[in-house]
Amino acid sequence: MGRHGLEQRIVILGSTGSIGQQALDVVMKRPDDFSIAGLAAFSDADQLRRQAEETRPEFICLVDESAASRLRDDLDSTTGPKPVILAGEAGLLAAAAWDGADTVLNAIVGGAGLAGTLAALEAGKKLALANKESLVAGGKLVKQALEGGSGSLIPVDSEHSALWQCLVGEDRSEVSRLLLTASGGPFWGRDASELTEVTVAEALAHPRWDMGQRISIDSATLLNKGLEVIEAHELYGVEYDLIDVVIHPQSIVHSLVEFVDGSLKAQLGPTDMRLPILYALSWPKRVGPILPAFDLTTVGDLVFEKLEPGWAPCFDLAVAAGRAGRSYPAVLNAADEVAVAAFLSGMIRFQDIGNIIDCVLTDHKPSDIHSVGDFIEIDEWARDAAQRSTASIETTAIGSAGKTILKRGFAI
Ligand code: NAD
Ligand code: MG
Repeated sequence: MGRHGLEQRIVILGSTGSIGQQALDVVMKRPDDFSIAGLAAFSDADQLRRQAEETRPEFICLVDESAASRLRDDLDSTTGPKPVILAGEAGLLAAAAWDGADTVLNAIVGGAGLAGTLAALEAGKKLALANKESLVAGGKLVKQALEGGSGSLIPVDSEHSALWQCLVGEDRSEVSRLLLTASGGPFWGRDASELTEVTVAEALAHPRWDMGQRISIDSATLLNKGLEVIEAHELYGVEYDLIDVVIHPQSIVHSLVEFVDGSLKAQLGPTDMRLPILYALSWPKRVGPILPAFDLTTVGDLVFEKLEPGWAPCFDLAVAAGRAGRSYPAVLNAADEVAVAAFLSGMIRFQDIGNIIDCVLTDHKPSDIHSVGDFIEIDEWARDAAQRSTASIETTAIGSAGKTILKRGFAI
């Protein structure tokens, strides 16, 4: 620790999103511990510029080239010191490997986050990883980058941060089970048959967390929890049979570890992503507080319920894809990104998300992902297959009074 604090220089990939904005809030609350070396986003130039005015980074980066060149023109017409402007995929890789940074927070959404994860680890950074898709789609590549270099990885996802905290000081051979908690999303308690007609607004209205659109829909289908089971398997090397999910609608217990003696260790806290973000940025130290003290007596009852197989087909599909391994998890992720976008734009219904993923997984001929090139090829195949499946659902729905295509049964 420096004389005045941790003095960590931080790059945020995906600074304009939900996690990115909350990370900036954490950084600004702890100026002696954290400062911003650089910020990267996809195309939201106005927000990125405002963030840069507040945090004075060495660089800013927009992956969208035309948005980046407009931003460059805008900044050229101003006076005073200006950050370096990086652009495109190459700019994002340079951002992830930036010399002047100690820590990279990857808060990009989707498979697009994998390249930044690998670049940060290869450059020996501490990587605070919110982008769970990196581990789901490219688990092997992430492990290789970790083993081959001096980088380290600490999860930001609240469940995995909880597991990490429960595992501190423990012997891994004495762990008997990981228990991930799940809020259940906005439809928990409803019969699966009632969910055909839910609207986009209902699916986006998460009862506990305010998040980006994709993860909000994934929380409603519980696909997100399936991605998190895969993430836990990749992070902690625990077999799928020993990873369980328990529904906990209050989202106060963030996850638990069970040990061979039958004891359970849990991590609790308010439902606020700024805490796991802070833990990842300050790890292996703890600093704070940044939030008012958490009063347990105001929480009320904590409930734990069983998730029955079949209630959330997307969860079942995700765990089946994780167990099948090889390229299946990457295909699952890509198909879901396409299906969620189609649902958000009103092209398909809620339950079609699972149908599309099921079709794409069923049609997939698995292979091994040894390189980023392999990942890109499989990701593109899965996106094309999901687009075709989406188009066939649209046609079928018009012709048959809203009947969806038949489930093909990948998870069975
Ligand atoms: P979001 O949609 O709010 O933000 C996504 C960010 O990624 C934006 O800054 C966007 O500009 C950037 N981005 C999108 N596509 C990009 C691309 N191709 N290249 C570069 N940047 C790109 O998403 P979010 O909710 O903040 O989630 C971010 C990640 O964190 C996801 O992996 C999500 O699963 C994970 N996560 C989020 C939460 C949460 O509370 N929001 C909780 C746990 C984990
Ligand atoms: Mg989570």
